[in-house]
Amino acid sequence: MTRAARPTAAPAPADPAADPLDEPLERSVLRGAAAEKVKQALGLETVGELLRHYPRRYQSMGTLTPIADLRLDEVVTILAEVVTVGVRQMRSRGGTMMNVKVTDGTSSLDLAFFHAQRVRHLIQPGRRLLFSGKVTLYRGRRQLAHPQLVPLEGENDDEAAARADRPLPLYPATGTLNTMQIRKAVATVLGVLGDVPDPIPADVRARHHLMPLREALTLVHQPDGEADWRRAQHRLRFEEAFVLQTALARRRAVDRSGAATPRVPTAGGLLAAFDERLPFTLTSGQVTVCDEIAADLARPHPMHRLLQGEVGSGKTVVALRAMLAVVDAGGQAALLAPTEVLAAQHHRSICAMLGPLADGGLLGGDERGTRVVLLTGSVTGTARRKVLLDAVSGDAGIVVGTHALLQQSVEFGDLGLVVVDEQHRFGVEQRDALRGKGRSGTPHLLVMTATPIPRTVAMTVFGDLEVSTLRELPKGRSPIATHVVPYERADWYQRTWARVAEEVAAGHQAYVVCPRIGEDGDVSEAGPDAPGRGPDGPGGPGGPDDGATDPAAAPADEDRLRFDDDAPPPDEEAPRPLRSVLEVIEELRANPALAGLRIELLHGRLPADRRDATMRAFAAGEVDVLVATTVIEVGVDVPNATAMVIMDADRFGVSQLHQLRGRVGRGADPGLCLLMAPSPPAERLVAVAGSLDGFELARVDLEQRREGDVLGQRQSGTTSSLRLLRVVRDEEIIVSAREEASAIVTADPDLAGHPVLARTLTDLVPQEREAFLDRG
Ligand code: ADP
Ligand code: MG
Repeated sequence: MTRAARPTAAPAPADPAADPLDEPLERSVLRGAAAEKVKQALGLETVGELLRHYPRRYQSMGTLTPIADLRLDEVVTILAEVVTVGVRQMRSRGGTMMNVKVTDGTSSLDLAFFHAQRVRHLIQPGRRLLFSGKVTLYRGRRQLAHPQLVPLEGENDDEAAARADRPLPLYPATGTLNTMQIRKAVATVLGVLGDVPDPIPADVRARHHLMPLREALTLVHQPDGEADWRRAQHRLRFEEAFVLQTALARRRAVDRSGAATPRVPTAGGLLAAFDERLPFTLTSGQVTVCDEIAADLARPHPMHRLLQGEVGSGKTVVALRAMLAVVDAGGQAALLAPTEVLAAQHHRSICAMLGPLADGGLLGGDERGTRVVLLTGSVTGTARRKVLLDAVSGDAGIVVGTHALLQQSVEFGDLGLVVVDEQHRFGVEQRDALRGKGRSGTPHLLVMTATPIPRTVAMTVFGDLEVSTLRELPKGRSPIATHVVPYERADWYQRTWARVAEEVAAGHQAYVVCPRIGEDGDVSEAGPDAPGRGPDGPGGPGGPDDGATDPAAAPADEDRLRFDDDAPPPDEEAPRPLRSVLEVIEELRANPALAGLRIELLHGRLPADRRDATMRAFAAGEVDVLVATTVIEVGVDVPNATAMVIMDADRFGVSQLHQLRGRVGRGADPGLCLLMAPSPPAERLVAVAGSLDGFELARVDLEQRREGDVLGQRQSGTTSSLRLLRVVRDEEIIVSAREEASAIVTADPDLAGHPVLARTLTDLVPQEREAFLDRG
């Protein structure tokens, strides 16, 4: 394999000594002990790291109130001098209690502190401080219990009043370092900090009215008013977007300069033969996207394209046409699916669509045809050896599989195209591992996702990909009626099963989806976007088909979330037991309304052959009702299935519910989806019941999710470089930053004229840098 010349992947770093932000804390003004403490508690080692430990939020102490005017239950701020301090041991509660009497010169007030070791040194007779808290009554006297406090040094009353108005930064603190200590360390460092190099070029700053970095660092930590920290945050947020977009723009530039073999289908070849067989005409959306892809494939640089479209929008046909074009041109295509069920289904449906064209090289096969093989973890022994041989010899034009395709033993004769289905379950590394198997240049890449991705998320999370979207569904698709069924209504509950029986009586089939399997040591199979997975444990990315996916698809480290305090409050009610596959199937088999129906179960812990057999039986109409976990979430296609009941629907995310219900109504008959949940129904269930527009639902979904979930596994490498930016909220910033970044990279691909920006890029966390360097 040869690597073509391309821009150097790593911009040359400027002299690090030039940047005071890189100065280790212990060599700066922060004395050894203080620096050590910051390092121990927060893991921050340099001046820059400390200053980029931004306040989590700001609190204003507010207008000063004279002590005489204090009213019960009000939150107040007073300026007062300490008169006496008494510390006593508390017998009943253990620990110490500090009672302080303060005066504002006119009246006096009691303050009480429990376990006050941390502030004790600040509260000494004669000292003046600002105290802020709620006025309570204790033994008939007004007091402030545990007030916030700001010590004052020689400030006069006017200055103290101004100080009370000033927003107080509150930091994400730890047990050993509190907000006040962080504030002090930051003040010490800022006090002597000179100018700092700014990764945002001056002209960009000017165009977007952004303050210089030095000023932003001051105002984000020491604002005089709300406007200060808001402007500072805006500038720092822009910087995050700008640096990330520059990295992505460079990635695109590197990708585009890489070499790939152009793949142009031969006239009258396999693709043409396939088009002749196609039982329907492509929608105009499909035609447009097919053209875009064909143009990409014909270029001598690798395609990087994301194909998004609702479930059933016809992505598979589009992808198959791309694969056939490559096969026609003498290459091979690999299709990577997230689960065995899906891989097997892709293999089946590709073979079905190709008909005799899939029997290439076999007696009776079409001479224009090719061979389509399947490789998953459960293909072993002789069968596996045969598949590997077909792949390496090039006899198999199309190789479909799971993570098993990534193994080193899998080689291709001439891999020209990698198609990745359901991208959000794969990391960049995984898809690149497969692309590394190309022999003549880098294979083209097509990523398919059924989760509609709003523009800014596409720009941030998939910023290195061109995006094609299928918006219309093929004609003849029936709408899905969705209703919420409250558990509390026993009559509706029974009616639900009667409806299922009616569907079956009409010759159709039904799914019943449960969030749990119901075995010992069970975990929820609700997928990655389920809100409040709560006590049932993670069903992280790669979770829904747990038993079937390879361990490589380990759940993302979800503790890397930022701004945990912005997260929706945790479910406080006692967790109710969730319905499980094993329990529900018992219940349904015993339900007289469903008597005589063939009811089977499907979940990720069943052996793969058993799962496949059940799925095949369901597809063949030999099973009436399939009780399953979210293994059926993605892509499973049985047009005769018209009804779906989702148990504990409130445990699933919006996008997931939308995906799930996409399994019904795939044929000519109208689909029905019943969402079972406790009353009153959660807002998002109402949203799902009220809309079939995947893009609108994706927005609802994003608004309800935390940023870490939005960025997910894919972006976990850069998580630590995005502190303030919120992908959902900051669309305008991301769009402007992307434009500026693209312009800079186009004009100056190696960032020779932007040394500070170049160095900031190399400071991105290691995984990100590696992903960045290793590409191609
Ligand atoms: P997706 O992969 O986007 O979920 P598929 O490609 O699996 O969608 O298509 C869903 C179903 O619609 C398949 O049965 C497919 O054969 C069919 N289909 C695809 N494109 C068209 C079309 N243009 N007209 C009619 N049916 C179509
Ligand atoms: Mg599909």
